[in-house]
Amino acid sequence: MLSLMMNQPLMISSLIRHADKNHGDTEIVSRTVEGPIHRYNYRAAHVRARRLARALARLGVQAGDRVGTLAWNGYRHFELYYAVSGMGAVIHTINPRLFPDQITYIVNHAEDRYCFFDLTFAPLVERLAPSCKSVKGWVAMTDRAHMPNVSIPNLLCYEDLLAAENDDFDWPELDENTAAALCYTSGTTGNPKGVLYGHRSTLLHAYATSLPDAKNFSASSVVLPIVPMFHVNAWGIPYAAPLVGAKLVFPGPGLDGASIYELLETERVDSASGVPTVWLNLIDYMKQNKLKLSTLKVTTIGGAACPAAIIRTLQDDFGVRVMHGWGMTEMSPVGTVNCPKAKHAGLPAAEAFELSLKQGRPLFGVDMKIVDGDGNELPRDGKAFGNLLVKGPWVMREYYKSEGGKPLTADGWFPTGDVATIDADGYLQITDRSKDVIKSGGEWISSIDLENIAIGHPAVMEAAVIGVRHPKWDERPLLIVVKKSGCEVSKNSMLKFYEGKVARWCVPDDVVFVEQLPHTATGKLSKMTLREQFKDYRLPTA
Ligand code: AMP
Repeated sequence: MLSLMMNQPLMISSLIRHADKNHGDTEIVSRTVEGPIHRYNYRAAHVRARRLARALARLGVQAGDRVGTLAWNGYRHFELYYAVSGMGAVIHTINPRLFPDQITYIVNHAEDRYCFFDLTFAPLVERLAPSCKSVKGWVAMTDRAHMPNVSIPNLLCYEDLLAAENDDFDWPELDENTAAALCYTSGTTGNPKGVLYGHRSTLLHAYATSLPDAKNFSASSVVLPIVPMFHVNAWGIPYAAPLVGAKLVFPGPGLDGASIYELLETERVDSASGVPTVWLNLIDYMKQNKLKLSTLKVTTIGGAACPAAIIRTLQDDFGVRVMHGWGMTEMSPVGTVNCPKAKHAGLPAAEAFELSLKQGRPLFGVDMKIVDGDGNELPRDGKAFGNLLVKGPWVMREYYKSEGGKPLTADGWFPTGDVATIDADGYLQITDRSKDVIKSGGEWISSIDLENIAIGHPAVMEAAVIGVRHPKWDERPLLIVVKKSGCEVSKNSMLKFYEGKVARWCVPDDVVFVEQLPHTATGKLSKMTLREQFKDYRLPTA
């Protein structure tokens, strides 16, 4: 027997329609590339999204067409999110930090029909345009007065497109499995691969990530997504905020400590999300200038393992609770978030802190398990570690255009490529990327654990640990360190710092000090680059 409930598809357009109707005067604040802070509200955003949808239709954009963006977090990018997906086309957010050749590959692979760009990226677009054959026009996300003086074929002006339209547009009701957004993985090996999200998956993800034990968003929240809208849809925040009617604050191109601090304070932000590096920069800036935070209460930090030192400093020195989260592009992206349970209320401070370092519990909707090399499930005891597999309605089943074949296991699980433990309470702890784990004489050493310890040293700004070839042990850990400015630390005292913190055989064999570490386009340490750089490194123990 079928139910007698309405069969209404889950549509992305319903989010902006809801926010307009019920939170119409709630603000959206953006730092713009042009300079000034822009303010408007959900009602005005909805009007402009509908005008933009009409403009896209007039340009010939049809259902299923891909529309690219090369843009920061800002109100026009937000309008594109809703106009493009809402009309039935697919917004393809491109990471401008990728190498130009990779961007060209991605635009061509996605066959973007139009591409919208922030002024920052005009020189990049000028360079790429001739090799992007599918693109019929490039739209500068600005007004007529700020149009760039560049030679880009079929260059259009965003505000001109909107000015020519009214908002008489009804969002179509589509099959909820219709594709809505496309995002390419950073591609540490081979070409980037596209992950194609749908209306249904995006809505379910937005619901789940708004919950108290996830992002804890509500109509009284003021949220600042520092994580870029070109990196897995800013972790879904542009969808979750209108779902609850939260005030949105977009940082635009200003991702340095000073700019972020200013927005946090002037807009009275209480919740902000970003990768560990942005927090490192912010903490550094606040400490140097003896500043405090007056409204920020929680941060979600993920995308890479959050070092204990960041969690400790934000908590103890700035009164900010860190919710450590884990996810991936293939998972829309949120899989787990770390919040305590009621039974943890009386936990001694040291144990509570230990718990907060884990990547957290799965949101309802994400199922996970760890398996050994033969696919046998391992115990959820917080000790056994193995390959992490996931399942759920916002987890990818195949890459765009079937690149990479069929990634799922025979019984329908997605192999994340991460190695993890899961404890009896469901808390996940990532011990490594399967290709970063250091295989020393048959034992596995977690590079993340060793990096976290190094980061805890007062003279260390950033650290990476990679496995380097060793004649006896196969691989041994090499620690690569960036010192804080004005700080000194020797090789020996760095290694001594590990004493009592890990088993003796896990202590790195050597330390190298460098000026900076290589990062990928999504802000993660590029271990691949480091492995290449140090492939002939001779350890003193070798
Ligand atoms: P991306 O698709 O670029 O978001 O990268 C996803 C990968 O980042 C995951 O598979 C993990 O290896 C890593 N990652 C994300 N969040 C965390 C975290 N909190 N701790 C450790 N690794 C993480």
